[in-house]
Amino acid sequence: MQMKVVKFGGSSLADADHFRQVAQIVKSDPDRHYVVASAPGKRFSADIKVTDMLYHCYEMIRNREDITEYYQQIKDRYNGIISDLGMDFDIDGELEYVKNAMCHASGRDYAASRGEYLNSLILAKYLGFAFVDAENVIFFKDNGSFDAERTRVAMAEELKKHEYAVIPGFYGIMPNGTIKTFSRGGSDVTGSIVAGAVCADTYENWTDVSGFMMADPRIIDNPSPIETITYRELRELSYMGATVLHEDAVFPVRSAGIPINIRNTNAPADPGTMIVANTGSYDAHRVITGVAGRKGFSVINIDKDMMNSEVGFTRRILDVLEDHEVSFEHIPSGVDTLSVIVPTAAIEGKVEKLIAAIERRTRPDHVSVENGLALVAVVGRAMVKAKGTAARVFDSLAQAGINIRMIDQGSSELNIIVGVDEKDYEAAIRAIYSEFVH
Ligand code: ASP
Repeated sequence: MQMKVVKFGGSSLADADHFRQVAQIVKSDPDRHYVVASAPGKRFSADIKVTDMLYHCYEMIRNREDITEYYQQIKDRYNGIISDLGMDFDIDGELEYVKNAMCHASGRDYAASRGEYLNSLILAKYLGFAFVDAENVIFFKDNGSFDAERTRVAMAEELKKHEYAVIPGFYGIMPNGTIKTFSRGGSDVTGSIVAGAVCADTYENWTDVSGFMMADPRIIDNPSPIETITYRELRELSYMGATVLHEDAVFPVRSAGIPINIRNTNAPADPGTMIVANTGSYDAHRVITGVAGRKGFSVINIDKDMMNSEVGFTRRILDVLEDHEVSFEHIPSGVDTLSVIVPTAAIEGKVEKLIAAIERRTRPDHVSVENGLALVAVVGRAMVKAKGTAARVFDSLAQAGINIRMIDQGSSELNIIVGVDEKDYEAAIRAIYSEFVH
């Protein structure tokens, strides 16, 4: 017997058909004991997620508008799911209670959290599982940070009482009894916390894609799926733009050594992607695990003769950035030059002040800021063993006629990061992808 915790995202619970698929998935494997549910997501691209509708209700109430008509759409979504499933379940009392509570200043997070609360009530009933309210098992501290210890103990204690249960994702409770949510997409985090608390063998995260792809499918046609990825590789890739999993979902399971399996509710036979702490039995059969990137970076170039012998030069630059609340991505340096790569959005409206402060603190020969940089991360745990990977990356870009503006290789040899002009971004991804994946 294994213990699996399964989380279904909003698109997996958007309507009755998806509920049926979810029930089939859950029931097809008795090891799937604990189910974490999101609020109903979009059914079609122009649709609105229930969470967004609830945020909207909250704004309407603040503006003293009557939400009756708008709220009816939310009621219709839940009642539509219940009636399409042919369930004998009356949720109107709950819906009315939520509406009243929202109108009586129960807070923005309370409003948003009701999406998962109501959906989980329905799912628990549909599956015949116990309903365990997250407000009894997920705790935050007074300062708003997550209370991991208290949560782990209470969650483990509560779940011991239920062989099978549904737990709403996304929210928990503050010491003063108010509801607080994680950041958007936070049901992933709840799933991970539940998996950690019950020492699950696997945390299955069911969504609408068959795991991570080796490259962005908007750039590469039909990219190969990633079968196995380590947490560290994922961090390198997700930080560059992959958005399948909430970043904070990694920590509770990573420390417990629990693998996350990303699965597709619409294609349950696909194995999806396994995210593991260390590869052990999962060896990489490709040199690179994935290539990802993002546009929208700027370079602050600083030149000064004899910079390399000036003690504290870099620290002064970093002090300036800290004073202006700018976090940097990379600092490639030469003997007399230093470049700081920052997200363009982070320096918007501050460029002149930053340059003036750098001039004042470091007396450089020259400071300039260039925009329009894209970063491309080539990530792979197998790179450390494969000779010539960097050469292949640079050669493929040269063959495609792409000028490399920056190179940075982490000393762990897990990644190579290149900076290219934004206009070359897509071509760079294509060139690198086709060099390593035939
Ligand atoms: N429903 C919440 C959101 O839309 C949380 C989640 O789905 O994970 O962000």
